[in-house]
Amino acid sequence: MSASAPVLDDGDRDALGARFGERVTFDAPLAPHTWWKIGGPADALLAVGTVDEGAHALAWAFKRKRPWFVLGAGSNLLIGDGGMRGLVVQLGGDYAALDVRIAGDEIVVRAGGSASLPQLVAQAASLGAEGVDGLAGIPATAGGAVRMNAGTDREIGEFVREVRVQTPTRPEPHPMWVGFDYRRTTLPRDALVAEVTLAFPRGDAAAVRARTQDRLVRRKATQPVALPNAGSCFRNPPGDRAGRLIEAAGAKGWRAGGAEVSALHANFIVNVADATALDVSTLLARVHRAVGDTFGVDLHLEVHLVGEFVA
Ligand SMILES: Cc1cc2nc3c(=O)[nH]c(=O)nc-3n(C[C@H](O)[C@H](O)[C@H](O)COP(=O)(O)OP(=O)(O)OC[C@H]3O[C@@H](n4cnc5c(N)ncnc54)[C@H](O)[C@@H]3O)c2cc1C
Repeated sequence: MSASAPVLDDGDRDALGARFGERVTFDAPLAPHTWWKIGGPADALLAVGTVDEGAHALAWAFKRKRPWFVLGAGSNLLIGDGGMRGLVVQLGGDYAALDVRIAGDEIVVRAGGSASLPQLVAQAASLGAEGVDGLAGIPATAGGAVRMNAGTDREIGEFVREVRVQTPTRPEPHPMWVGFDYRRTTLPRDALVAEVTLAFPRGDAAAVRARTQDRLVRRKATQPVALPNAGSCFRNPPGDRAGRLIEAAGAKGWRAGGAEVSALHANFIVNVADATALDVSTLLARVHRAVGDTFGVDLHLEVHLVGEFVA
């Protein structure tokens, strides 16, 4: 099975080129934009730097009935080797804005959709934002973290005060209520997170900084940070840990092509030698089957599989 033909015609390419100039790249490889370093080309990869540009891109895709997708830091994505059809939007410029300040007994953070979560954590921790250490070491954008309700024992959703989104039918930023659950949200698929406001109780800055640092050190010791990966592949099932089950099923070190179940953390798959999306998806399926056969547990993916998977 091969990838389907690009869905953007010459007229689409001309229109995007005329509006966005060199910020739009056609047939752009996506692998460099993901933490796994895997993924085929996007018909068009568009770097938008302002809210107006984001609005224009969404309205254009809606009018032309073209598929679109928003890419964050690419730290939770397995993009198929056949790439992605339509428009892949990458936020930057104004969307990367980050404002962290003390407001009475709170630390209030306003972050654009592409603001760096590690920078947000560092700045908020330095002011004593209680609980922000639970988000330390997650290599996300603020928008991607909201979409995933990223976290550890503390999740970003606990601290969200307001989410502002843009959608194809309402492209100007507007507030949207979002419900948060373990690694999932009610955010509709067609909502782009333009900005999020978070509020943390104000605590002791030295203590929060120390806890943040501890978490970063612990991650380095327990996660395969030197090899391309996408964090935990499967969600933890109720009352257990996916990594424990995968290890107990004997899957540590299993390999498919250039992809390997990490020997350090069994819920991580690492790209050890030019792995393809097919290698990783093959391994995911084997691990899923092994845990099901051994423990009767149906693991659910945490990583998002997007784009076209071709043999
Ligand atoms: C080393 C490592 C450690 C990790 N540790 C953790 C951890 O401890 N806890 C945890 O929860 N996760 C962890 N992750 C996974 C990952 O960092 C999170 O899922 C993160 O929230 C993904 O954010 P992103 O910006 O990279 O989004 P991407 O991976 O680019 O995209 C993920 C999804 O979010 C959507 N999205 C991205 N930006 C936006 C936006 N602005 N608006 C709307 N939708 C958007 C995408 O369309 C996609 O569906 C880890 C990953 C790595 C590589």
